[in-house]
Amino acid sequence: MRVNDLFGSMVFNDDVMRERLPKHIYRSLKSTIKDNTPLKEDVADVVAAAMKDWAIEKGATHFTHWFQPMTGTTAEKHDSFISPVDDSHVIMEFSGKELVKGEPDASSFPSGGLRATFEARGYTAWDPTSPAFVKGHSLFIPTAFCSYTGEVLDKKAPLLRSMEVINTQAMRILRLFGNTTAKHVTTTVGAEQEYFLIDRQYYEARKDLRITGRTLFGAKPPKGQELEDHYFGSISERVAAYMKELDEELWKLGVTAKTKHSEAAPAQFELAPIFCTSNIACDHNQLVMEYMRKLAKHHDLACLLHEKPFAGVNGSGKHNNWSMVTDDGQNLLEPGTSPEENAQFLLFLCAVIQAVDEYAELIRLTVATAGNDHRLGASEAPPAIMSIYLGDQLTDILESIEKGVKSNNVAAGFLKIGVNSLPVLPKDTTDRNRTSPFAFTGNKFEFRMPGSSISIAGPNIVLNTTIGEVLSQYADRLEGADDFITELNTLLHDVIKQHKRVIFNGNNYSDEWVAEAERRGLLNLRTAIDAIPLYVLKKNIDVLVKHKIFSEEEIHSRCEILLEDYSKCINIEALTMLEIAHREIMPAVIAYTKLVSETLQSKLSLPIAIDTHAETILLTKLSQLSAAMTDHMDALENKVTHAKSLTGVYESAKFYRDGVFLEMQELRTVVDELETLVGENYWPMPTYCKLLFDL
Ligand code: ADP
Ligand code: MG
Repeated sequence: MRVNDLFGSMVFNDDVMRERLPKHIYRSLKSTIKDNTPLKEDVADVVAAAMKDWAIEKGATHFTHWFQPMTGTTAEKHDSFISPVDDSHVIMEFSGKELVKGEPDASSFPSGGLRATFEARGYTAWDPTSPAFVKGHSLFIPTAFCSYTGEVLDKKAPLLRSMEVINTQAMRILRLFGNTTAKHVTTTVGAEQEYFLIDRQYYEARKDLRITGRTLFGAKPPKGQELEDHYFGSISERVAAYMKELDEELWKLGVTAKTKHSEAAPAQFELAPIFCTSNIACDHNQLVMEYMRKLAKHHDLACLLHEKPFAGVNGSGKHNNWSMVTDDGQNLLEPGTSPEENAQFLLFLCAVIQAVDEYAELIRLTVATAGNDHRLGASEAPPAIMSIYLGDQLTDILESIEKGVKSNNVAAGFLKIGVNSLPVLPKDTTDRNRTSPFAFTGNKFEFRMPGSSISIAGPNIVLNTTIGEVLSQYADRLEGADDFITELNTLLHDVIKQHKRVIFNGNNYSDEWVAEAERRGLLNLRTAIDAIPLYVLKKNIDVLVKHKIFSEEEIHSRCEILLEDYSKCINIEALTMLEIAHREIMPAVIAYTKLVSETLQSKLSLPIAIDTHAETILLTKLSQLSAAMTDHMDALENKVTHAKSLTGVYESAKFYRDGVFLEMQELRTVVDELETLVGENYWPMPTYCKLLFDL
């Protein structure tokens, strides 16, 4: 099939709607999609019937409301279209009611509301702004998941609300700049997804990978990524076949898979789609992750989406490219060609700078997970310190505004008539800074902190809400101004002066930056446990409550859930380690030790004197290390027991980090050293060499 025919072939998209819906129904639905007008029941009935007929032609027998609970993945419950007409016949039915609203039993999902009093009364509501699609034998209907009492139960509802915050506030700004034509502003996202591929049989042979998604043991191979020969390297036939199938399956679902390449670490790759609205990007990223995992099996591969599957080589992230666009196609982070456009660009740019500085910890904690702790703070991914890369040219322009002087990059007369004309800013050059957690890349910001496995809803909810809040403050100030240009200049000047500390164009991995950031008063929240508790700071609660994203109770509850998730994750890892150590590694070490000691014994029992140096040394090392291993296993067991006895959510999470996790590393160090001594045939699981270099 040609790509053209393939693309979107399983999506109930605009073409299909236009073709299959009566004109007035189509118009009514479009106005719901574009302008949020409520959908009338008779319209919903017609849409549902058309969807059902179309889905049945595509092989569907069922429909499901597809939603995104707080677990970070997706959930679905399938109902068939059948409806009995008599005891031997059925017809296929699907009503507007069923399309618009569903009632899954919500009792087992983390609620984020007040869990003690929470009842299992949740409903899913159709999100017509993200198109329905057929996958397998079901019609998938993207939905938001809410409770009857108003609590937010998912990640989509708050994301949609946060997009509305940006819409409202950015429109106020546009009107101030004399834009009378734009009707709507939406946020756009392109999520680059990194992942690892390994041979399926090796994956199956590693309990740690199967249970926790990462290797808990594994000595460093002689070669890692130091030769930099994998980045953008040629793609093997097997991986290429996988990528081809992945592209095609995603295209069918309307996911605009665009770029694929090898990444920095061996066996690491990336897929980037073309950006779209945050909402659809979030849905699509879930599909990308699902298909990456699922299709790997067809090629005897396993796809690893964990943030740090392997020690010693890069982990995986998910770069969240973010911007805002009007319904008539103007990217608000694109420097324009006229003075007004440039001034408008600078104002939106400043709003992002201010939001990232003011709400640094809130943004940081949206990516705070046990898995991501392996990246942030380790010198590979962006560091845990929030800062913004703007590039020299733009930084120079901002400095000149702050100082009120001319610069090489700003034309004369700047201060009198607003921003006169900005130079053409370099877009996405190859030498741009790759170490920054939040980089301006020509006409968008790239937030590089998110881990590879998380839902991008969380970071985008917070980005949209905090940037929207700052825009609302700007709009208040400018709407009330006597002279718009003067007030605008003062505003830009004030914002730059106050928030320039968050701008950093240098090497984010350097020790100097850590010291410098501290001098600037920027937070360095190295671990999830440093970041998550700041969720409940008053200013964070204020901004989220003000814009009706979450209630105060929900924030407290979400904070607890995040801490609990951290503890659960480390607990599972520790238990998996202990099980592998006891039941796989220790028996292997003992078996190998036996071989060595038997060899030694047989040499000693020979009638002639034979050199036994090698066996003696090896036996000594093996004995010492296995003794140390036993001690660390005991210590880890004790720590886990202690962690379980702690009742406070924060105390417990903190102990999992400072007690359990550290002890896990001690145990790993000893085991990894043993791996280098024990014969390869004795070692119970595939080594890093195989995992990373055997694709
Ligand atoms: P790089 O790896 O150099 O950062 P990629 O091409 O891999 O660049 O990814 C860039 C991502 O940014 C793509 O997903 C692209 O669609 C997205 N993007 C481009 N423009 C915008 C925009 N205005 N808003 C959001 N995302 C964008
Ligand atoms: Mg990329």
